[in-house]
Amino acid sequence: MSAHIGVTGLAVMGANLARNLARNGFTVALHNRSVEKTDALLAKHGTDGDFIRTETLQELVDSLEKPRRVLIMVKAGKPVDAVIDQLVPLLEPGDIVIDAGNSHYEDTRRREAALAEKDLHFVGVGVSGGEEGALNGPSIMPGGSKESYDALGPLLEKISAKVDGKPCCAWIGTDGAGHFVKMVHNGIEYADMQVIGEAFDLLRSGAGIEPAEQSKIFAEWNKGELASFLIEISAEVLGHVDAKTGKPFVDVVVDAAGQKGTGRWTVISALELGSPVSGIAESVFARALSSQAEQRKLGQELLAGEEIAVEVPENFVEDVRQALYASKLVSYAQGLDMLTSAAKEYGWDLKLDEIASLWRGGCIIRAELLKEITNAYAAEEKPANLLFAPAFTKAIAGALPAWRRVVATAVQLGIPVPVFSSSLAYYDGLRRKRLAAAVIQGQRDLFGAHTYGRVDAEGTFHTLWGEDKSEISAVDTH
Ligand code: NDP
Repeated sequence: MSAHIGVTGLAVMGANLARNLARNGFTVALHNRSVEKTDALLAKHGTDGDFIRTETLQELVDSLEKPRRVLIMVKAGKPVDAVIDQLVPLLEPGDIVIDAGNSHYEDTRRREAALAEKDLHFVGVGVSGGEEGALNGPSIMPGGSKESYDALGPLLEKISAKVDGKPCCAWIGTDGAGHFVKMVHNGIEYADMQVIGEAFDLLRSGAGIEPAEQSKIFAEWNKGELASFLIEISAEVLGHVDAKTGKPFVDVVVDAAGQKGTGRWTVISALELGSPVSGIAESVFARALSSQAEQRKLGQELLAGEEIAVEVPENFVEDVRQALYASKLVSYAQGLDMLTSAAKEYGWDLKLDEIASLWRGGCIIRAELLKEITNAYAAEEKPANLLFAPAFTKAIAGALPAWRRVVATAVQLGIPVPVFSSSLAYYDGLRRKRLAAAVIQGQRDLFGAHTYGRVDAEGTFHTLWGEDKSEISAVDTH
């Protein structure tokens, strides 16, 4: 019996993906650097389906049907290269090497190019949904060649989450496209989590609503347009009481948010692409600031607050809900806009409707909203920005008064809402006829002769600031 697929790297993610594959009827060859993990998996879950136990990569390769599919699920970074280096000499042209870990898309591009020279397919696959998703159905974002997807796609689609009967898995695009889209997914996730945190802080510090009560509010919100996995689990977290102290769980947790790096990667990449993902960036920075324990301690002692004592607006809870919705929408708009920029840069044909659709199940940012986003990009006329899709233009217009009230109240009360406020600034930046950029262009021309355009003439110009301030055509400056 040959295996349909081999999995090497059987820590929690690899083991769960292998079990998911086996439960879906595929024969899975198992391998791990140290054989203990392989045996532990077989001892505990060997009855999940058909497994083939192997001890070496050679045995793993020998046990596979052709073209071989080898899924690597080891620690991201150097270990992936180490495993690839050991595997490649054992494979034949046409075989498919799959990296389903959290690799950086540039690494994936490099690996894909290197393996292509040996006539091997390398497929970087973004997998979202954590341990639970890997076992029961993740959202899957495969890159690599279309040819490799023809051989691999049916397996991945079978094990993915399903929404309305449709797999949350589709070919994303060549080389690193899958890992890129997964990275941006994580960036949106950061912003999505931060806006929920900001809503909590506003309701607590602004309106004095205790976590237990907020848990009910969040559960209620989860029945409407905000319905999502993150709102659902936030209701659970807020309702949880610490057994030791009897206090709300959120009051005994240290308020320093950790991060593993994919949000940071998103922002670095966005900066390189010139893509304004301000909400995502603010959410990464907010985590960084939360972790600056020493400075925060000094800040509490040294920095004035001077809050302005204002009454929170009537219907504040509903205002916060609407502001949360609008800010969340902006985060998705920014993330999807970044995908558009990346598609141009890397020559990927990213289908935003399919991407939004495969985020509807299995992954952390799964949300009702994604159905509407899918529809927006499935329309014949694709919006240049998600916010321009008629349904969302209307929705934001409806939320705008509440959004402005909430941000204004937060500023007056000294409650930091970096994503609520930066998202609003992004929105206003998009819609304003004139931006402060004209002043910046003037400054740049004065100190660096960087030139500027005029609203009333074609071409580029430079003012002779140090002379008689007359204007010349910029070609004259060179
Ligand atoms: P780990 O990231 O903890 O990696 C452990 C595995 O890597 C073990 O099987 C280990 O083998 C193997 N390994 C480490 N170094 C080497 C090496 N040099 N050569 C061969 N094998 C090596 O495992 P996880 O299951 O937590 O994660 C796997 C991947 O999935 C990572 O990229 C991670 O970022 C990603 N991930 C994704 C999540 C998601 O939601 N999509 C969630 C969690 C992780 P040994 O047992 O011999 O030490």
